[in-house]
Amino acid sequence: MNTAQLAPAGQGVKLDARIEAADLARELRAHTQGEVLFDAASRGRYATDASIYQIEPVGVFVPKTENDVASALRIAAARGVPLLPRGGGTSQCGQTVGAALVVDHSKHLRNVTALDLERGEVEVQPGITLDALNAQLKPHGVWHPVDVSTSAQATLGGMAGNNSCGSRSIAYGNMVHNVAGITALLADGTECEFGAFDRATGRARELGEAVRALAQRERAEIERLWPKVMRRVGGYNLDVFHPQSERPYTSDGSVNLAQLLVGSEGTLAYFKRLRLKLVPLPAQRVLGVVNFPTFYAAMDAAQHIVKLGPTAVELVDRTMIELARANPAFRSVIESALIDEPEAILLVEFAGADKPALIAQLARLVELMGELKLPDSVVRMTDDAAQKALWEVRKAGLNIMMSLKGDGKPVSFIEDCAVPLEHLAEYTSQLTDVFRKHGTRGTWYAHASVGTLHVRPILDIREGGEKGGAAKMRAIAEEASELVRRYKGAYSGEHGDGLSRSEWVAWQFGPRLTAALEEIKQLFDPRGLMNPGKIVRPSKMDDRRLFRFAPGYAVLPLQPVLDWSAWNVQNDPATETLTAPGTGGDAAAGFGKAVEMCNNNGHCRKFDAGTMCPSYRVTRDEQHLTRGRANTLRLALSGQLGPDAFTSDTVYEAMDLCVSCKGCKRECPTGVDMAKMKIEFLHHYKQRHGHTLKDKLVAHLPRYAGIASRVPWLANLRNRVPLLAQLGERWLGLSAQRSLPEFRADVFTRSAPPAPAPAQFKQDARKQVVLLADTFNNYYEPDNLRAAQRVLEAGGYEVAVARGADGRPLCCGRTYLGTGMVDQAKIEARRLLDALLPYVRAGASVVGLEPSCLFGLRDEYLVMGLGAEAEELADASWLFEEFIVRESNAGRFNAVFKPLAKQALLHGHCHQKAFGAMPAVIDALRLVPQLKVQTIESSCCGMAGSFGYEASHYIVSMAMAEASLLPAVRKADADTLIVADGTSCRHQIHDGAQRAAVHVAQVLVQAL
Ligand SMILES: Cc1cc2nc3c(=O)[nH]c(=O)nc-3n(C[C@H](O)[C@H](O)[C@H](O)COP(=O)(O)OP(=O)(O)OC[C@H]3O[C@@H](n4cnc5c(N)ncnc54)[C@H](O)[C@@H]3O)c2cc1C
Ligand code: SF4
Ligand code: SF4
Repeated sequence: MNTAQLAPAGQGVKLDARIEAADLARELRAHTQGEVLFDAASRGRYATDASIYQIEPVGVFVPKTENDVASALRIAAARGVPLLPRGGGTSQCGQTVGAALVVDHSKHLRNVTALDLERGEVEVQPGITLDALNAQLKPHGVWHPVDVSTSAQATLGGMAGNNSCGSRSIAYGNMVHNVAGITALLADGTECEFGAFDRATGRARELGEAVRALAQRERAEIERLWPKVMRRVGGYNLDVFHPQSERPYTSDGSVNLAQLLVGSEGTLAYFKRLRLKLVPLPAQRVLGVVNFPTFYAAMDAAQHIVKLGPTAVELVDRTMIELARANPAFRSVIESALIDEPEAILLVEFAGADKPALIAQLARLVELMGELKLPDSVVRMTDDAAQKALWEVRKAGLNIMMSLKGDGKPVSFIEDCAVPLEHLAEYTSQLTDVFRKHGTRGTWYAHASVGTLHVRPILDIREGGEKGGAAKMRAIAEEASELVRRYKGAYSGEHGDGLSRSEWVAWQFGPRLTAALEEIKQLFDPRGLMNPGKIVRPSKMDDRRLFRFAPGYAVLPLQPVLDWSAWNVQNDPATETLTAPGTGGDAAAGFGKAVEMCNNNGHCRKFDAGTMCPSYRVTRDEQHLTRGRANTLRLALSGQLGPDAFTSDTVYEAMDLCVSCKGCKRECPTGVDMAKMKIEFLHHYKQRHGHTLKDKLVAHLPRYAGIASRVPWLANLRNRVPLLAQLGERWLGLSAQRSLPEFRADVFTRSAPPAPAPAQFKQDARKQVVLLADTFNNYYEPDNLRAAQRVLEAGGYEVAVARGADGRPLCCGRTYLGTGMVDQAKIEARRLLDALLPYVRAGASVVGLEPSCLFGLRDEYLVMGLGAEAEELADASWLFEEFIVRESNAGRFNAVFKPLAKQALLHGHCHQKAFGAMPAVIDALRLVPQLKVQTIESSCCGMAGSFGYEASHYIVSMAMAEASLLPAVRKADADTLIVADGTSCRHQIHDGAQRAAVHVAQVLVQAL
């Protein structure tokens, strides 16, 4: 069996191995409270991390308690099964990939267990993320300062495992400098306290003394070969006894055994609890942006700039600058930092308690640049908001770079080599030549302050052979390592060893020290059960059998129902230009490549103000995460989950809690659009399994709503008769705990006059609007459409309400898309296009109220095979508030609003957020004098079309609403206007907080 790849279920795996795994699972279930996930899809979801590797784990265990971990460790050890601790799984080198029992403690073991402000220490469980920890510390004026870019995902266990480093490491050091103690479980289950060596007792003392003896034996070799740079994270920290780094391990020169464990990548012990150092939160920060005429000059200046004592010196190169400029959201921010056309900029930050002192440091930076013959090259930023915006640009640039389509991808394997600053310019210049020689290029960014510049050459690692990506990866690694040696640097300077760099440990430290590192492993873990194959006894970095796209990987042929050809492309690694859509060679016509865009970086595991990913936010399950879904789809599409897996219930389960919020479309760095993928999936799944009665009831709403609205007392009876609600739950799966939206008799389109033909409009084209009466507003809340019409007319617009040729109101097809009836959705879309195109071509704007309907015209319509006409419609389609604000800014909107001395509390619909329409709704509300607008920092409301009405989703739906939306609404005064533009959001607010929420059109009409 090829152990690297996932064997299709039931194939390839030796029978005795499967029996053993089943026994292990049984025992774990019997003796722990944790979740035991041994099915093929779960194992597949844990077979990858943010690296290029994939190895099937034996099984996955999600402990509920610390005792569960201890039990799992003992049970696995008794059976000789290796154990692999895992946090966010965001490692870039394959640290969390292995044929072991993976223990994912990020779901439950994430508490702060003690806080000692006097000592400046906090004790945590390993599964807490850095952002969650720092949020809890903020009120105390302190933080844990190892500020990794993945702070929202990175767990403290994983950060300690990898010896992670933040942007401000020049000021605060790496993780190893910030861990005071570790309570660890050894592979045999023994619990040990690792802290100050002189106070160590028991096994910890014995192990410490044994390592000290090794260190003494190898002292000369350590002094000869150990990299002296601060950014060295490869190998074990054997030098704790004779520190070699330019930054000492401890301020008083004492030895701390916890530091021996930091960076051990789960190979020596399991960290049950970590004692971490805290520092005061800097009260003030200022930023100097230095503009350089050449990249070389920027690199050369870093060594001088660090002498001024900055807290960060971060690079943004020309490519990143251009990427930021190309993005409308970032253009003005990046341009505010530029002087002329620099080839690179350095973001130089100073932080401290006293702003005038920091401003003096900025002045010193300006002086220094003058001395370096670069006068007038510094943009000074002292305002907090401006600084924050620029840091966001630096992060976003990396994200855009990672979204390159095609099989060539920026690959991380030499991305964090560290060299002394005086050689940075030479090193980067020569490495650029290496890339060129191999027909590729890299974009440089990150930590100039400590000589660790990130760079990823674009390689197609699926290609085998001498000229293939894997071969190039080795060649580039070898040439890069020559440079690192020449400049006395460290090969692994930030991201650890894992599968891609453990092989280089011997290269870095030489045979004697490598043997000593193996002895450390032997001392801690004599049976080799802790995360084998990392740091010592490694595999080859270019062993293609261990790759996610291993030899033989292929997507199975599939005819998608949506157009994915934009993903079916290849790229030129030297120029990043793409081939024509449809030419990428994907057997699934681009759908496979769209799914493969997920590079497992884990950014979707977040809880910030954004939307992504609501179902993960409430479940914390890998299965219900964008990454988990993308992995499930990839494995199914490539036959790694058995025959017909793509339309199986396994995939259905993974897609089921996706609320199609499109949070990922906007917030995933590589643009994974799971909502669109769910439409594709449902189409195929339902073709195989058929549609349920509930599907039909939901999907055909636009077709029967007209009849239902003629007899609303009958259609709405279900909401008044509990027995009917219960029967509805049993037969249709619609939750009896929910009220359903109520049909109204005064349907908007019934009272609207027939739309004039385009030529009959009286106003000129810029003042013509076709109001899209979506099914939900039309039949459930017609007052919203009336309000919108009044506001538009007050603004001087001529408003027409178009219908289909058959007289039936138009429908965008959303209910059909949501139930996988894509062919029906195409029929509705065609009808809508035919009705609206004449107006669009005459210059009218199409305006809609319901975000999910209106944005469908700009999004799904473009991939439904509707041709170029869909683009014409998309260009002319506006959400009501977008239109009002655009027209108001252009001076064409004539209405004057009266003051409303009130508070408006705004909840954004997910699609408003996904399409960047939140500023528009805020600006539209601000047109009303004296109205104070406050936005709720909410993700999805949880209703999401029909999702929340379904009995099987009720609990998850309410949990989503309770995460922030409903508590915020409940806190609002009775007088506050709750504003929500989504029909289902309003319903959820009404159901959950018994408050009426209104569409923005209703607020504006009140102020006329
Ligand atoms: C886009 C991107 C940006 C990144 N930026 C940075 C950066 O700025 N700085 C940086 O240093 N890194 C960075 N990384 C790498 C990675 O995010 C960090 O190393 C992070 O700290 C890993 O945290 P995690 O919770 O995902 O750990 P995981 O990947 O889950 O685990 C990391 C290692 O720790 C071990 N481990 C986890 N928990 C325990 C435990 N309880 N006991 C023992 N061992 C354990 C694991 O076995 C593994 O070997 C980046 C990665 C990505 C994808
Ligand atoms: S879905 Fe996007 S954000 Fe999530 S892991 Fe994949 S690439 Fe990263
Ligand atoms: S569409 Fe929303 S729920 Fe679905 S995967 Fe993306 S972020 Fe998660």
